[in-house]
Amino acid sequence: METSRVNLLDYDSAALAALLVEHGERGYRATQFIKWVHQQGVLDLAKMTNFGQALRDKLNEIGEIRLPEVINCFESTDGTMKWLLRVGNGAAIETVFIPEMDRGTLCVSSQVGCALNCSFCATAKQGFSRNLTTGEIIGQVWIAARHLGQHPKTQRRITNVVMMGMGEPLLNFDAVVPAMRLMLDDNAYNLGRKRVTLSTAGHVPGIERLRNECPVSLAVSLHAPNNPLRDELVPLNRTYPIAELLDACKRYVAENPHEHITFEYVMLDGINDTPEHARELVRILRGVPAKMNLIPYNPVVGADYRRSTPEAIDAFRRELSKAGLLTITRKTRGEDIDAACGQLVGQVQARSARQRKAQEELRA
Ligand code: SAH
Repeated sequence: METSRVNLLDYDSAALAALLVEHGERGYRATQFIKWVHQQGVLDLAKMTNFGQALRDKLNEIGEIRLPEVINCFESTDGTMKWLLRVGNGAAIETVFIPEMDRGTLCVSSQVGCALNCSFCATAKQGFSRNLTTGEIIGQVWIAARHLGQHPKTQRRITNVVMMGMGEPLLNFDAVVPAMRLMLDDNAYNLGRKRVTLSTAGHVPGIERLRNECPVSLAVSLHAPNNPLRDELVPLNRTYPIAELLDACKRYVAENPHEHITFEYVMLDGINDTPEHARELVRILRGVPAKMNLIPYNPVVGADYRRSTPEAIDAFRRELSKAGLLTITRKTRGEDIDAACGQLVGQVQARSARQRKAQEELRA
């Protein structure tokens, strides 16, 4: 009986309205419910004061509100925060908040583990367990928003969400899109389309669907300027090679002349970081409205890479900038709590000591 009740967090506004109508209620109650839960942070039906007893009983019969459970919350010396969340059956996921002067970015997971097996990524090393539900995805935002709202320090508000946590969001499209609709919803998190970013390893059919169904900002993990190298680093490239991927990117921004794709590029010493790689990158990105994000590699247990030197990163950036490509180097944040790009895994406890050791080695 318990388990047959739906999770009311799995529904965006339109889907919740349809569900309520199906049960003989008025559709606008969905908006009210979403405001209570996501704007006010209220989960207790008894506190939803514009709902009569009959409606509360009905909602209670239809479903319940199930959130991931906070196992632990870590705070980095640089202010970055990370939550480890239990999502049932021994599985855990991570969510990261990155405060900056003028904004606060929440990095959200879409899957438990990942199936794509990128050679430099910690999440890949744990394999794929399952997709997250919409409720588990938006639940990460709910938990972080509540927690930050109670935080004593100021400037701790979520102004941006990036789907850059664990997993490949486009391989969990049907759960990710309703969660992003709630992020965009004025009655929920009210983030503009430019403030919600989905990052993909390059799943072309998913990019096409996203363009039609929920065109948020798009980031693409490029990491290499040619197919042989990209095949090795991002095995999904063997299915959707660079030319096809870049065509999909062009179509994604075609209707909006002011928009661009953000390309992520992990800087791996001696692998993809020479000036020649930069020039090759300039050539392939000709005609693609692009911004480049260089990400200094973060050490991962089981991967045999080194971070590019600051000089190599700088030379690479200058080569791209010289060609007119807007390029920034992403600042590494939250490294001391294993919250940096590519370091997220579910089972932190067992791995943390080794990870820390790997980082110490890197700094030495
Ligand atoms: N699967 C999606 C979402 C993950 S986003 C994607 O691939 O885009 C996480 C970003 O961190 C991706 O750009 C990923 O390639 C990058 N990343 C993975 N491992 C990393 C590492 N060890 N150091 C730096 N960046 C890494």
